[in-house]
Amino acid sequence: MKIAVEGCLHGELDKVYATIHHMEMVENIKIDLLICCGDFQAARNENDLESLSCPPKYRCMNSFWKYYSGQSIAPVPTIFIGGNHEASNYLWELYYGGWVAPNIYFLGFSGVIKFGKIRIGGLSGIYNQRHYHLGHFERPPYNESDLRSVYHIREYDVMKLKHINDPVDIFISHDWPVGIYEYGNVKNLIRHKPFFKEEIQKRTLGSVPATELLNHLKPQYWFSAHLHCKFAAVVQHKVDGSITKFLALDKCLPGRDFLQIVDVNSDPGPYEIQYDEEWLAITRKFNSVFPLSRKTFHLRPEQLDKQDYREWVKNKLNVRGTQPFDFVQNVPPFDPSQSLAKSSASGPSRNPQTESLLQFLELPYLLDTATEASMLIQNSTYAYSGDVCNKLSDDVKSAEANDTIELGEHTEDEDEDA
Ligand SMILES: [Zn+2]
Ligand SMILES: [Zn+2]
Repeated sequence: MKIAVEGCLHGELDKVYATIHHMEMVENIKIDLLICCGDFQAARNENDLESLSCPPKYRCMNSFWKYYSGQSIAPVPTIFIGGNHEASNYLWELYYGGWVAPNIYFLGFSGVIKFGKIRIGGLSGIYNQRHYHLGHFERPPYNESDLRSVYHIREYDVMKLKHINDPVDIFISHDWPVGIYEYGNVKNLIRHKPFFKEEIQKRTLGSVPATELLNHLKPQYWFSAHLHCKFAAVVQHKVDGSITKFLALDKCLPGRDFLQIVDVNSDPGPYEIQYDEEWLAITRKFNSVFPLSRKTFHLRPEQLDKQDYREWVKNKLNVRGTQPFDFVQNVPPFDPSQSLAKSSASGPSRNPQTESLLQFLELPYLLDTATEASMLIQNSTYAYSGDVCNKLSDDVKSAEANDTIELGEHTEDEDEDA
């Protein structure tokens, strides 16, 4: 199976598909799958741009909307995770994963799917210690602070991935596992990106949970992006001697190493995206403790669903089939000939794919659950205890202060052509 791996997309779908077409022609090959490692920017219309964290000059529609509207069709099945520049309102609707456009599948905030016989897992967002232990408290439309914390990885999503026992072939994270540079040509990396040096020496460059997952899942391949450079490494796991080949790629720009073809051993097709039985069982089991507030998340085992849903999911999939629920266009796509009425604001909206999946798993819909913060805004005329208000505003202030020193985002924003 030939898989094209791409670093950060930054909305450049047209260019990546054109590059894939060119490679297929020149090398006389067929590419079976495209994997994008985040900063995908799935903006359906102008409203979605308001949920995209990036400097205003980069807030443009780019090319995704054409695939959302049906004007263009993705020529290769495409799988992606979220990074730190996303239409976060749209990805939140598809928290459990789903089609963002025909033939383009989002893996979810964390998720595992099957493609043919290959098992692919992913973790969206970037690591920031400050928000790691909190729940998913952000709801669209986002304020300035939530716009930047919504893409910070949460422990809950990582914990679900740590409950995977069956082998995973490929794993994708947007930021690199911390310490991965020790397994490749770190001197060369520092020569190309001297401003990484201090963070590398302090071992603070990258994602702590990604490293934990790398050691737990031991996939054959691990792909990342975010730092906008190419870097390869080989990790040999101490426990069983197995090997993970790590590859990070650049973003989609002329003359940059943004795309690489990887040949993965696999049975012949059909190569289609399918639900993963073990992952759906994990989703079912952990939904009872889904943290949706700003509070620190503690897993209290007595709250966790005791049942192992593997057999239950298997039986349900046998009846229904394993293909994901169909893509549904649920907001008007961007129309270059007219600007969208601002009244249809990018507030919470239930995606029919998510509703269908939750019905299938017999789970309640929780993604629009109000949190303390949104209640505070909605009920601002009510008297709240000073304690709550002070606590919230402190959280917001320090979160903002922290964002400005956060290397990954900072590095990207400094990048002239981010
Ligand atoms: Zn990024
Ligand atoms: Zn990027």
